[in-house]
Amino acid sequence: MGPLQRTNSLLAIANPSVQDYNDLKKLISELNREYYVESKSVINDQLYDALFKQLIAWEEQLPLKEEQLADSPSQKLTENLTTSFQKVRHDHPMLSLSNAFDEYDLKRFTEETGEQQTDYVVEPKFDGVSIAVHYANDIFVQAVTRGNGETGEDVTNNVKTLRNLPLHLPLSRFGISRAEFRGEIYIRKAEFTQLNKSRLKEGLDPFQNSRNTASGSLRLKDAQTVRSRPLEVVFFQCVHCDNQDPAKKLDKDHSKQMEILSSIGLPTTHPYIKTSNSVESLQEVVDNWKNKREQFPIEIDGLVIKVNNTSLHTLIGSTGHHPKWATAFKFTAASVESVLEAVDFQVGRTGVLTPVAKIQPAPLHGVIVRNISLHNQDFIDRLNLHIGDTVLVVRAGDVIPYIKDSWSASKGRGRRVEFPEDCPACNSPIIREEESAAWLCPNAHCKAKKLEQLQYFVSKAALDIDGFGREIMKLFYEKGFVNSRVDIFCLHARREELIVLEGLGPKSIDKLIAAIESSRKQSLWRQIVSLGIPLVGPQTAKAIIKHLKLRTLEELSFLTLDRLVEIHDVGEKVSQSIIDFSSDLNSSQELKELSACFDNKNASNPESVSSELLASKRVVVTGSFNFASRNEIKEFIEIHGGIVSGSVSKNTSVVFVGEKAGSKADKARDLGVPMLGPQELLAWVQDNTIPPMLKNADSE
Ligand SMILES: [Zn+2]
Repeated sequence: MGPLQRTNSLLAIANPSVQDYNDLKKLISELNREYYVESKSVINDQLYDALFKQLIAWEEQLPLKEEQLADSPSQKLTENLTTSFQKVRHDHPMLSLSNAFDEYDLKRFTEETGEQQTDYVVEPKFDGVSIAVHYANDIFVQAVTRGNGETGEDVTNNVKTLRNLPLHLPLSRFGISRAEFRGEIYIRKAEFTQLNKSRLKEGLDPFQNSRNTASGSLRLKDAQTVRSRPLEVVFFQCVHCDNQDPAKKLDKDHSKQMEILSSIGLPTTHPYIKTSNSVESLQEVVDNWKNKREQFPIEIDGLVIKVNNTSLHTLIGSTGHHPKWATAFKFTAASVESVLEAVDFQVGRTGVLTPVAKIQPAPLHGVIVRNISLHNQDFIDRLNLHIGDTVLVVRAGDVIPYIKDSWSASKGRGRRVEFPEDCPACNSPIIREEESAAWLCPNAHCKAKKLEQLQYFVSKAALDIDGFGREIMKLFYEKGFVNSRVDIFCLHARREELIVLEGLGPKSIDKLIAAIESSRKQSLWRQIVSLGIPLVGPQTAKAIIKHLKLRTLEELSFLTLDRLVEIHDVGEKVSQSIIDFSSDLNSSQELKELSACFDNKNASNPESVSSELLASKRVVVTGSFNFASRNEIKEFIEIHGGIVSGSVSKNTSVVFVGEKAGSKADKARDLGVPMLGPQELLAWVQDNTIPPMLKNADSE
């Protein structure tokens, strides 16, 4: 029987049964869905109104139980006055999403979601209000706002009035008794215009934007008024499905889940979902949306990109702020105009002067930009920069914004930006080396330069002394506690003077002193890197130690150019830089004193800094280790001659398996690759003993 025939036969019933009532309820729900979800009108408005009147009449007439009324379309008419919105704790916190703005962010996102994982979905991000909706035994039971993510407000009565929200959803077909879906409540562009038109007619102020209107409507205390607002909901995530029957599970793919849920009447993102399997095709989908966004009938503020396979979501995990398996691609300007207020010249640790533009604070990609590096003189000349210029700030590759263009907004132009003749810190005349774009301060005792060197010495990249931030070093330097690198190791003797410094106390000073003490055991390559010799990074430091069998820092002063250039990985320029540093009288004296500050028992054992334990072994690291960061473990592997590899294959020598290890551990197990757990690895890191597992790997 078609809907029209069913309508007519139901309207003809004089003495209805409960079965007739159920049929009527079902028919109206179906008509609602056709109308609101699929935008089809099956019967005319008069007939629909007649059906609805019949429904209300029967509900008064028949002895119906509460649960029989729960999913009735009449419930959308409840004249419920809500006096307050109860606070409700979310079963699963409603996290926000990390943001992506360009192809680099997309690339980073895909890299973070895992190597083997390439199946993504892209869906529009509706510009509305987030909502968590619960169903139990096929009936809509609760709707909660996002709130602070942990706790939201119960807006069940208001959400019930939403025209496209099904009060009955046959989830039991999939063995689901309870479910939570996340969605967005929004107003279509055309509806919003219409709403404002009628408000103006009634002499009311128009609404500012559709998102705020949706949000304000949800918090109205009168469900009648809420119903009069053209609110709709779209669902984009199945957060939780309490599955009673494993045989009837929803598909593991998000795109499939949305399709299935759509087919049983839940409005979802299904019609708009695009799948993608590479960064390139992701970019294509994104570009496509950028073009059609204006024509789209609903306001969208971006796109959401997710890993399609939901069974990987827990594995990929969350940061506490946002899930790592999804990101929001924001449609925001990639550039912003601002005004150049001044240019500072900052002296770096090698003496190079870096011009830094101070601009009027400007928002770009969710951050406020105030300072922008201008790199060097050539860069400034190319831009023909003048103070007071309007500048076009663009976000480059990764995260660093740069100035792409500048012009004068008024007729006159401000002072031209030029390099100073003298170092702004010590007034020594600055010099420009041949073939170099950089100007530098040649003064070895330049205060600014020295401070930078000290700050670098203790930084993460160098000795990595915990809690020794730039500000603390600046304070110690200015107060005269630290004038040289060696002074740092004497700070413990001045504890009493330090604890009275403003902003510090015995607790933080003791912690800092303890961190300094434990840095005496830092590996030799870090000691070398911490000197900040131009061009000498970890790779060079490790190569020198390995080939020249260096045992202490002091031995750096005995190196010759001939010996250095012999090393395969060390070029002539780098060698010269090392010699320039170590042949300096001050440096060699410092090297001697500094060398004595380090615990050379550790450093003097060449095995511990460059052993052959893992020589040419391919090592894969998976999961997390509570005693060391992933980078530290990778560093450790390299120090011992191993090669860090990203994926497991039969050529893998060993896999270090930490907590929450992913598919790599499974693969290693399948291939029979030796695995090393956190305990064994920790023992090895601490004692430098070869774990039995690796001996096995050795003997193969
Ligand atoms: Zn200087």
